[in-house]
Amino acid sequence: MKFIAPVTRNQEITATIMDLTYEGLGVAKVDDYPLFIEDALPGEEAKLLVTKVGKNFGYARVLERLNDSPDRVELPNKSYMQSGIAPLGHLSYPAQLKFKQQQLQNVYKKNRLDIEVLPTIGMAEPKGYRNKAQIPVRQVKGQLETGFYRKRSHELMPLEDFYIQDPEIDRAIVIVRDLLRQYHIPAYDEARNRGVIRNIMVRRGYFSHEMMIVLITRTREVPQLQNIISGIVMKLPKVVSIMQSVVPKPTNVVLGRTVKKLYGKTFIHDQILGHTFDISALSFYQVNPLQTEKLYQTVISAAHLTGKETVIDAYSGIGTISLSLAKHAKYVYGVEISEAAVADAKRNAKHNGIANVKFQQGLAEKVMQDWREAELDVDVLVVDPPRKGLAGTFIEAVGIMKPKRVVYVSCNPATLGRDIALLQEFGYHAAETQPVDMFPLTQHIESVTALTLD
Ligand code: SAH
Repeated sequence: MKFIAPVTRNQEITATIMDLTYEGLGVAKVDDYPLFIEDALPGEEAKLLVTKVGKNFGYARVLERLNDSPDRVELPNKSYMQSGIAPLGHLSYPAQLKFKQQQLQNVYKKNRLDIEVLPTIGMAEPKGYRNKAQIPVRQVKGQLETGFYRKRSHELMPLEDFYIQDPEIDRAIVIVRDLLRQYHIPAYDEARNRGVIRNIMVRRGYFSHEMMIVLITRTREVPQLQNIISGIVMKLPKVVSIMQSVVPKPTNVVLGRTVKKLYGKTFIHDQILGHTFDISALSFYQVNPLQTEKLYQTVISAAHLTGKETVIDAYSGIGTISLSLAKHAKYVYGVEISEAAVADAKRNAKHNGIANVKFQQGLAEKVMQDWREAELDVDVLVVDPPRKGLAGTFIEAVGIMKPKRVVYVSCNPATLGRDIALLQEFGYHAAETQPVDMFPLTQHIESVTALTLD
């Protein structure tokens, strides 16, 4: 039987928004057929234009909102939502925090997990928090521009105030943009894979105020490079590092695998919970400095350390969690895939005078198996995997090594739910999850869950 959707493209309908997807889109239903709608909140009734009709769901756009949700707030600039900079920017901050708590509750329900989700720990001022930006550079109407891509498009919208980024980073991007204009540097042309400058990346230390600028270029050669470097150093005295990363091919990946130093150092400093960290261009570093301290405090209390424990910190990055735990533990083993991050981690341990940690470069799932074979006696395991969660082989190794406690730091509720269900089969049990809002105004959900052996 041929499927017939109850709506057609370009049809106008009036509907009530019932729900909000995990991506922050409003959901209206026509005879059980869901339509996803930007800038629409539960409880709002709206005149809609159907823009896309698929087999199982469609998309619509709001023509006119007939009533406002009590949770609706106005953003200073509508384009923040169109760009994916602030997909939850139309929702009041308390409602965002509740939304994140509920998303975790929904995942647990789906996985039949009986775990309490605590209220999300939020920020006092949920804006200007990002310490890192990666901004595309393109030619728009004959002029080099920095800005953002409209969602699902290849059209760059020029923008100077990114709202969720540290305002000093926004300022630096405008200064670099103006230097690129002054020296007539060709912006990257995606369609023809031509031009020179693809992206500008900026990192700023929250406590140190040190800045790193990374020029991501298509070509190795950059015309007027010395002038650009001198211009940056003169106009931005806090820049201590300028790097270049060459990405010759058409790709969505922003940074290349290697970076080259153009000026100064290869890293910047920052501090977390009293420790100083070197952060290099290719290493992962949490983007919200104030909330990172709250996240790590939550991890430290969830780990229940007394000073006698052997700890594994898997997916350890530049060692931030490992070093935060080290003074509460006997020994901490970190494992991390990125060579740059492991090099940073080793230097960071040394500079902070912490001797009871060791960092191993490799795949967490592989190194866990090695440690299991070496019969490493682990008391507490901390994991902080990327969005795809833990590998099956990693969980099997946990089942054999049987650490008394597993502290799961997750950036993706879906894989968290899946992995907790798997860990349960090995006798682990979780009582509660603490969400910490690392990404205000966006849909991203970070949380900490302690699991113990039954
Ligand atoms: N705990 C750190 C880093 C978390 S981000 C912090 O709080 O800053 C996740 C890290 O996992 C990244 O550094 C990434 O390079 C690393 N990673 C991704 N896949 C991995 C794998 N299979 N094995 C080991 N590390 C991995």
